[in-house]
This record gives sequence, structure tokens and C-alpha cells, in this order.
Amino acid sequence: MKEAVGVHWFRHGLRLHDNPALCQLLETCNKVYLIFIFDGESGGMRLSGYNRLAFLLESLTDLDRQLRLRGGRLLTIRGKPTDALQLMRTEYGMTHLSFEQASGEGGDCEPVWAPRDELVRAWCDEHAVEIIERISHTLWDPAEVIEANGGEPPLTFSMFHQVAMSIGLPPTPEGDPVFRAGQLAVADPTRPHGHPVQASAPDCSVYRLTEFSNLTPLPFQLFDEVPPVSELSDLKPSPGEHKKRYQGGETRGLQLLAERVAWEELALSRGIVMPNQYCPDLLGPPRSMSAYLRHGCISVRRMYHQIQKAFQACTDAQGHSLSICVQLVWREYFYTMSVKNPYYDQMEPNPICLNINWRTDDQQLQQWKEGQTGYPFIDAAMRQLIQEGWIHHVARNATSCFLTRGDLWLNWVDGLRVFQEYLLDADWSVNAGNWMWVSSSAFENFLDTSDTISPVNYGRMFEPTGEYIRRYVPELRQMPTEYIFSPWEAPLSVQREAGCIIGKDYPCRMVNHEVVSRHNRKLMSKIAEQLGTCPPHCMPAGDAEVKHFFGLPGASLEDMLGGH
Ligand code: FAD
Ligand code: MG
Repeated sequence: MKEAVGVHWFRHGLRLHDNPALCQLLETCNKVYLIFIFDGESGGMRLSGYNRLAFLLESLTDLDRQLRLRGGRLLTIRGKPTDALQLMRTEYGMTHLSFEQASGEGGDCEPVWAPRDELVRAWCDEHAVEIIERISHTLWDPAEVIEANGGEPPLTFSMFHQVAMSIGLPPTPEGDPVFRAGQLAVADPTRPHGHPVQASAPDCSVYRLTEFSNLTPLPFQLFDEVPPVSELSDLKPSPGEHKKRYQGGETRGLQLLAERVAWEELALSRGIVMPNQYCPDLLGPPRSMSAYLRHGCISVRRMYHQIQKAFQACTDAQGHSLSICVQLVWREYFYTMSVKNPYYDQMEPNPICLNINWRTDDQQLQQWKEGQTGYPFIDAAMRQLIQEGWIHHVARNATSCFLTRGDLWLNWVDGLRVFQEYLLDADWSVNAGNWMWVSSSAFENFLDTSDTISPVNYGRMFEPTGEYIRRYVPELRQMPTEYIFSPWEAPLSVQREAGCIIGKDYPCRMVNHEVVSRHNRKLMSKIAEQLGTCPPHCMPAGDAEVKHFFGLPGASLEDMLGGH
């Protein structure tokens, strides 16, 4: 009998647990190799800052370590996916290729990766390599949600919720992979490979937006071990970009998940749902799962089912309550909305995005990016983003609203690029979906901007002590709490005593929020008038949903979900 040689290709889904494609490959093949390809795209490498690339490499190192314990290893290759697969076929006899699929449409649910997957699928067809693809990046198959909704993505988050529930509960996670003795094969990257592949730089020309790729184009290469950042790119940490609080990898992700579930359980036992949203803690220990979900270091299905279990244990409830995991549903929603829209991260060609006449001002954009706006809460958040690669949802709301419809009236796409570069959890569709939402570019019913975020009061509402600002804006460390959110109001004597003269030691506020936000509201009303009706499927279902999204008090989950 001919030997079946499998290759599992990690892209998202950087984990062993709940990895159905890998499990099926292990059942099918007697020999299995596991690979990751630095193609300049997969794993979020396009427009990746230092921190996220480091997170990716930590995640790969963790996989390699786990595989070595089982007698295997992770082979890392730089080059085009089809060149790497060609090598695996000619040198190692690959007969099967498995990878995580995110949508029943085939390939990844984010359409930007479609060209990569189409090329690979065509190559496999041509070379009679059998593909094993299984969905495990989302709770529901986005293609199935679209089909259940009559062929179009659901119009609103509440509709999405209803359609998803009509499909049924998310599947339970797959059991852990079983590696048979000797099944894990080891490729030796140091032996000379007589592979027929022409040495070539990663060919990014098949992808859109190639100018964003941060990978240094170098020849095709197999690495001895997971390479450091310096072997892949010229990226250096920007000043302060080293205080990363999240370590990449499945092992750390699972530890954090266990802590997170215990914390949710404690909160549930006190009658609090979604503690992270309802009691935002800007200063506490790292509790976010988003970077791990984005890279697939942990399975969203495991997170969902563990939180449901905690809920049942605390409440004697028999069934599931989607409300306690509603943030995970937002993730599904934004993915599903992007499935058929390759222009999701752009304005003009994006059919669901309003074309708004945003201003261009590079200097203001830079001030915002560097945390030099003169609004301490905004500056603290932007500096934390650059240093640590993560900021809380409320800080994302405040900074993105400030850049766009709230204050500066600059294009959300410019803000998205900054987030895309620095966030550890930057996700093509989730990032764009949230930026459109906050900037009123889509998902907006009335273009009613009365909920514009105040860069002073919003921050004070969530973290009234000012410690968050003191941590990230050290110039203001001695500023009394009374003035720390609006230091320009402090009398000169107070500024002197605090060792921080506004305009000298810390910038004057770059705009007057009261004035510009009033002006921006008028601009939005004008757009709404001219528009008459909104483009299809881009609206919050109502006030409660908007309030919930922004973490504003007064919206109950039941209101938002229409009784579900
Ligand atoms: P929790 O509140 O504990 O939620 C659990 C998980 O649900 C998160 O890890 C995330 O996977 C998902 N989730 C939560 N909120 C949202 C949301 N609004 N939309 C979609 N999924 C959500 N999240 C990303 O994962 N990647 C991004 O690139 C991203 N960009 C954003 C850009 C802007 C302008 C804004 C306003 C929000 C963005 N978010 C993004 C959403 C959200 O802020 C983060 O997911 C969240 O802060 C992560 O922290 P957590 O894991 O503690 O979240
Ligand atoms: Mg448009």
C-alpha cells in the first residue's frame, strides 16, 4: 500500500487542541509533517509591527516545543506557499495537505486570503495532493449563516444573533490530536535539498496591498528552528515597544483562558455577566484573550463552551446563554459581514461603507498616533497601544472616535492602519468592522452622532482615579486627579507644583472637543440628509445596541438582544 504522507499547514489556528483538520490528517496518514510558511501574508504578517511579529514567532516556538516533546518539530519555511508545498511533495512525498478553514466557502473566511488559497488549491489539484480542510476559527460557519439568511449577511447584529441561533449552538471542540508512535516526521532543514524550486523572494504580487508587507524579501529558505524577528524583517521595536504583556503561544493562552474562566465564574456567582465589559479594568492584570483568538492559539469554541459550563455551574441553568458570551458573537458578526467583501478595509470601493469627506492632515494623524493630542486619556491609550500592543475596548472606542467623527475628522482607514500595525490581536475583518462602526461609516442607522465620545468624561467614567493616565503619560504623574483628565484647566500654580506646564512639558489640547464635535455633528447631519436612506445592511438595531457597544450604562443585554 502506498504510504500516505500528510503535511499540516498552520496559518491561523496555531494550536494543537481543537484542531479538527490536524486530527483528520493524523487519522489518514502514517507520516505527518507540520509546517508554517513565512509568505509575507499568513499569520497576519502584512503590516505587522514588531510586537505582533514577535507574538507570532513566540506562538510558533511554543508549537515547536510541544511537537519536540512528541518526537516531531515544526518546520518553518520562507517563500511562496506553492514553492514550499512543492518541496514537501518532491522531497518528502506529500500526498495530503491539511489546514484550518474558516468558512464553508472554502479557504479562509477573510476574503483577502482567497488568492493564496486559490493558488494552493489549484496546485494541489494539479499534483493530485488531497486537501483536508475543516472549520474551527469561528463558532459558526460564516457561509452557513449567510445561507440561512437567504444569501446575504444579516443586516444587524441582532439579526445575526437570531440567524445564528436558528442554526443551533456552536459545535463542541474536537478532542485532542492523537499522535501514533513514530507518526510525526522530522524534515531536516540543514540537508541540501535538491528541490526544483527556483529560489525566489516571497511573491506578494498576488495579494492586494502588498506595499504594507513588512517582511524583508529574501530567498526561499528552510529554517533550522523558528527564526527571530531579525531574520525575517528589519523591524525594530519603536521606543518603548517592548513592555508587551502578552506572551504568544497555545501554552500561555490556555493558562490565561483557565484564569479568565475562573474570573468569569466568580463574577457570575455575584450576578455579573461579561465582567470585562461591565467592569472595565484598565489597570489590572492581562485578561484579554483576543490576541490568542486572533492567532488561533486558543479555540473560540473552547472558550465559549468553558464559559457556558461556568454559567451552568453557577446558576443551575440547563441550557446555554449566548448573552454571557456576546462579545464572541460580535467577532462572528464582523467576520461574516466581510466574507463576500474584499474591500471591507477600504472606503471608496467598499459597498457597505459610506464615502465621507474626511480631512487629510498628516501632522494631526502623527500627533494622535504618538499620543500627543493633549487629551490625556487618548494619549495614555495610544502610548499603551504602541508599547504593549493591546488596549481595552473602551480605549479603542475613545481613540477611534477621537480620530474620526468625534474630533479630528480624519479617515478611519488611516487609524485602521495604525491599529493593524500595533495591535497584537489585529484582525483584518474585526479591526475594519469596528472602525466602520465607531466612525459611523457603516453599521449606522441614523448617522446620529449624539453619542460622540467625550475624550475627557468617557475616560473618567471608566477609570476615575487617573492612575491609567499616570502610568502611560508620566509627564502628568503629579497632576491632581481633579485636573488629570483636562490638565489645561489646571491653574498655572497647580501646573508648576505638578512639574508639568501645559504647552511646554505636555502638549496643549490639539482641538477643542466641544467646538469640533458640535461642528462634526452638523457635518454628519448633512451627510444623513443628502443620503436619504442608508446603504443596505449597515445599522445598529437600536439605541441599546449602540450603548452596549460603547460600554455606556443604561443598556441591558436583554434590550440589545431583543429578548434572546
Ligand atoms: P472581551 O470583551 O473579553 O471579549 C472576548 C473576545 O470577544 C475578544 O477576545 C474578541 O475576540 C471578541 N470581541 C470582543 N469585542 C469585540 C468587538 N467589538 N468586535 C469583535 N470581536 C470582539 N478586536 C480584535 O480581536 N481584533 C481587532 O483588530 C480589533 N480592532 C478593534 C478596533 C476598534 C476601533 C475597536 C473599537 C475595537 C476593536 N476590537 C478588535 C474589538 C475589541 O476591542 C477587542 O476584541 C477586545 O478589546 C479584546 O479584549 P478582550 O479579549 O478582553 O475582550
Ligand atoms: Mg464606500
